[in-house]
Amino acid sequence: MSLIIVMLGAPGVGKGTQTRLLAEKYGYPHISTGDILREMAKSDTPLGREVRGVMASGRLVRDEVLAEIILTRTSQPDCANGYILDGFPRTLDQARLLEELALKQGNAILTLKLILPRQALMQRLTGRRTCTKCGRIYNIFLSPPKQEGICDVCGGALAQRSDDRKEVVATRIADYERATKPLTDYYQQSGRLVKIKGDRTVEEVLNDLSAAIDSIDGRRPPKQPVIAG
Ligand code: AMP
Repeated sequence: MSLIIVMLGAPGVGKGTQTRLLAEKYGYPHISTGDILREMAKSDTPLGREVRGVMASGRLVRDEVLAEIILTRTSQPDCANGYILDGFPRTLDQARLLEELALKQGNAILTLKLILPRQALMQRLTGRRTCTKCGRIYNIFLSPPKQEGICDVCGGALAQRSDDRKEVVATRIADYERATKPLTDYYQQSGRLVKIKGDRTVEEVLNDLSAAIDSIDGRRPPKQPVIAG
């Protein structure tokens, strides 16, 4: 029996960072639907253009597109022993798809939700800058580079993701909260949700997440409740 770990939490809560660390620690592949979609958005095809447009507006990409992404990615051999999902599911329909997939793959699902006050989320997102050369991430409020707009490590130019602009961020957070409330409730009601406070050091948060994973007996058959609606 292997484990599907679902990372929940609003944009900017630190899901990406913690998921990378957990993936390293437990040897699970880290599947970020945001990263996969950003890659897709670069291609000059009708789907690429659609994804680019939806992401730039801060809204959610269609479930059909996500279903295709998840089915394809999780059927790769590196997912055979389990995987960590970052950014998926975001809706009940997506959760329903994941239940079917878990049943087919024989995996148990554990959801870990990182929580942070709204004001802190805004600061984390609008301040985020990424090096266009090496990918290192800064925050102009919390962890600024030594020289404005320049990467400390490689000297590359820092850029802001188009969906991190202030006018888009508020929509992203509101959309996320509205769209995922039923999802969070659902995982809570089925006893598979663990909430972890995100306003502490990276190590402290990682320790709590690891404790939640370690407390699961992954060899037990997964609980497979039916989602209403
Ligand atoms: P993220 O990097 O997870 O914040 O995702 C960035 C953007 O990608 C989101 O604002 C959505 O437009 C899109 N996206 C990522 N994951 C999903 C998903 N599971 N369902 C729908 N849209 C998604």
